[in-house]
Amino acid sequence: MNYHILTLFPDMVLNGLHTSIIGRAAEKGILSIEAIDIRDYSKDKHRHVDDAPYGGGAGMVMQPGPVCDSYEALCARLGKRPRVLYMTPQGRVFNQKIAEELAKEEDLVFLCGHYEGIDERALDRIVTDFLSIGDYVLTGGELPAMVMIDCISRLVPGVLNNEESAQTESFCDNLLEYPQYTRPEYYEGMRVPEVLLSGHHKNIEAWRRQQSLLRTWQRRPDLLKEAQLTKKDLEFLKALEEEKQGKNP
Ligand code: SAM
Repeated sequence: MNYHILTLFPDMVLNGLHTSIIGRAAEKGILSIEAIDIRDYSKDKHRHVDDAPYGGGAGMVMQPGPVCDSYEALCARLGKRPRVLYMTPQGRVFNQKIAEELAKEEDLVFLCGHYEGIDERALDRIVTDFLSIGDYVLTGGELPAMVMIDCISRLVPGVLNNEESAQTESFCDNLLEYPQYTRPEYYEGMRVPEVLLSGHHKNIEAWRRQQSLLRTWQRRPDLLKEAQLTKKDLEFLKALEEEKQGKNP
């Protein structure tokens, strides 16, 4: 996977991404991460890339020329035109399913806006996907790009040491993950659930499935609508509902 980040703040994204698991994957060559400074494509002698909005109003708008030129130079270098993801609060809200779909690409371009955003004509010309990280407004697209890159990278084969861990985590199958415990067995009077110490794999698996269902039912019941549930799962959820009704008639 090759990430190309079009930004006015290359150090911000490179410093953030070249650490821990993602940094190690980049060092090993499983991922490549480059930040392209949009300012390098300014034709202005002061390297300006923004100007006041037509029609008036607060703030500055990033001009179309440097944004499009930075992308075109990248395409010329790569010999292809990769998908361009514009980080915007106006986009589709990013989630695990979108991450899974994007992880199949070979190259991804992340376009980070700043100030009031980017001139619409640049977006019309080069953007293929409009993506948001949630219904709130940040100062720039760098943090959203880093969030998405972190999430997508975990799905790229070889990035995580244990392939299984990406498959059993929250949102896999639209369920939240079961609770996790490690040493010590007793902590401040609280003991690790007995079943996890039993070594009985079938029982552990059944307990984890129920805990996943319980947690999703308690914290994110909206996810259950899309989850793939067995007859046994449905019975368990029905029992939870009945217990709830019984307690609060
Ligand atoms: N004027 C824009 C609007 O109202 O839609 C907001 C611009 S915001 C201050 C500056 C930049 O931050 C945006 O161009 C975008 O790249 C990024 N950004 C802000 N919030 C975001 C979010 N929730 N998700 C993704 N990108 C975001």
